[in-house]
Amino acid sequence: MTPLFSKAVFYLYETLQGRDTMNQYRHFLETQWYTKERLQVYQFYKLKSLLEHAYKNVAYYAELFDKHGFNPYIMNSLSDFKKLPFLTKKIIRDNGIDRFIARGTDKNKLLKVKTGGSTGDPLVLYLCDKRRTADMAAKLRMVSWQGIDIGDKRIRLRGIPAGLSFKGRVNTFLIYLMNIRVLNAFDMSEKNMERYVEVIKRYKPKILTGYANAIYLLAKFIEKKGVASGYSSLKSIFAGAEGLSDRQKDIIANIFNCSVISDYGSMEGGSIATECPQGNLHIASDNVFLELVREEKEVFFEEEGEVVVTNFYNYAMPLIRYKQDDIAVLSGAGCPCQREFPVIKRLKGRKLDFIISPDGRMIHGVAFKDIISEARGVECFRLVQKEAGRITITLEKNEHFSPEAADEIKKKIDNLCEKKLEVDFILTDKIESSHEGTKYKYIVSEIAGNYF
Ligand SMILES: [Zn+2]
Repeated sequence: MTPLFSKAVFYLYETLQGRDTMNQYRHFLETQWYTKERLQVYQFYKLKSLLEHAYKNVAYYAELFDKHGFNPYIMNSLSDFKKLPFLTKKIIRDNGIDRFIARGTDKNKLLKVKTGGSTGDPLVLYLCDKRRTADMAAKLRMVSWQGIDIGDKRIRLRGIPAGLSFKGRVNTFLIYLMNIRVLNAFDMSEKNMERYVEVIKRYKPKILTGYANAIYLLAKFIEKKGVASGYSSLKSIFAGAEGLSDRQKDIIANIFNCSVISDYGSMEGGSIATECPQGNLHIASDNVFLELVREEKEVFFEEEGEVVVTNFYNYAMPLIRYKQDDIAVLSGAGCPCQREFPVIKRLKGRKLDFIISPDGRMIHGVAFKDIISEARGVECFRLVQKEAGRITITLEKNEHFSPEAADEIKKKIDNLCEKKLEVDFILTDKIESSHEGTKYKYIVSEIAGNYF
């Protein structure tokens, strides 16, 4: 497919879905050059209209704002906004999703997504077209920063769930027409990785995207096999979702001989930050309002704080001052790229390790997260692997839990791993977020390191 044809398919697809993605993209290309002062004004009005909408149409916020004597119609400054209480997953769950859905919204027309979250407790969210348009436009801008255009050939290394629906198959075909090829990160066996390497060499993509540790694993495989050439078509690798250490990034960049770009986003916050050509992770300040707090107070530059995010485009289900469970540090320095979006210096996010089966297959943590998140009555979980062939899953149960839920999890894991993995369950009423760091890691393989 020529890039032009693929671009046309993309344009048509977005239009048919009722999304004005290209206009939003053009808008983001403008707002990225706003000065600090102009951005502040822009953010204020974006927040103000979201808050007015929430006050008028969302039961939870109408009550909350009244309780706090807050009126978005007479909101004067961002400091007014910062007096509102934070939102957490627990608050949403305790109130029920419906109290967060805007009046007059047809849930059937929204995209229903599940978020695992850093501590493994799933939450259902509903995304409207406005939000999905902004997500897509932000992604387009992210790749444009690396000189990549819509329709350029790309390979995605990500999870492919077994058994696609009809709609799933249609989407797969459209993705194919958009010059995108998908490789399954849920099954990184040596045999598969050999094939993936061949696909990359033959297809000659400009861009490779996917789970960070799956890409890292592939790079290590190539290093081991000594086939580190033939990837000259690649301009950039986008490794999202879990974050990479600088050392891992260097290894990937060396093997594929191209830039390795990170981004930071979530289901709740959308596209939160993306890396510019100078290697700085800029907050997408025209898409989200980001705050860093410690003990409920805003932190300064160079200090660690919890990420609190408000996406400007969540209209069906506004999430205002949502605590992300991630820790970040902001840099006080500017960036030579001239964008005045603040720079995240360090990010400690969620981490999903690979799980190793006894025959040496590496299975991505997301596959396990999806299975466990679906079980009824599981509040949150922690999965630990200490030896090949065995995992321990601690389940924090609530009143809806029954032993069948654990059986169901076991059955699905058997399917995934061809019955080669022993599963021990520990049931508890409360998973403690023990010492620092562990809270942000809920699928941990203590042996995966040996395979990297
Ligand atoms: Zn920059």
